[in-house]
Amino acid sequence: MSERIKVLISEEDVDARISEIGAQISRDYAGKEVHLICVLKGGSFFMCELAKRITVPVSLDFMYVSSYGAGTESSGRIRIKKDLDEPVQGRDVLVVEDIVDSGRTLSCLLELLEERRPASLRLCTLLDKPERRVTDVKVDYTGFRIPDAFVVGYGLDYDQKYRNLPYIGVVEFDD
Ligand code: 5GP
Repeated sequence: MSERIKVLISEEDVDARISEIGAQISRDYAGKEVHLICVLKGGSFFMCELAKRITVPVSLDFMYVSSYGAGTESSGRIRIKKDLDEPVQGRDVLVVEDIVDSGRTLSCLLELLEERRPASLRLCTLLDKPERRVTDVKVDYTGFRIPDAFVVGYGLDYDQKYRNLPYIGVVEFDD
């Protein structure tokens, strides 16, 4: 089976939206420093582009988590594959994700980070698939709400491919 990628959100539209979110974050965190936590690997492209557009002081850290369970559905329990390098206690933390789908991974991650007592904890995602949500997750900044389709690009992969696409595409399969 081979696949084709159909453009869902163009590079220009993604760039423009990231600039808007960066400006919004800069306003919301005026006078503060924002500590960005990138959820690897998917969040990395978005975080770099976002960080460049934030005008308040920024620090960065990375976390790599996977959800337990086989298949494409996340199970709601996460395993930390790489933890943060620095404590988040007392910091204004903004988690940067590629996509919120069922919300299970994010709600576990946010709970775990909350226990570490940051001064504030917010979530920024490039993409949101609200139709798929099974767990309540408060998203503070959203790039685009998209329908229930499997998307790639801008950090998102299919079988580890297509993360480097500068746009968001939908995977279509030829049979
Ligand atoms: P959740 O726990 O919200 O169901 O899972 C979120 C994770 O599932 C995302 O971080 C991402 O790795 C993966 N995911 C969900 N939807 C998609 C999609 O459309 N494309 C890709 N490439 N990954 C997805």
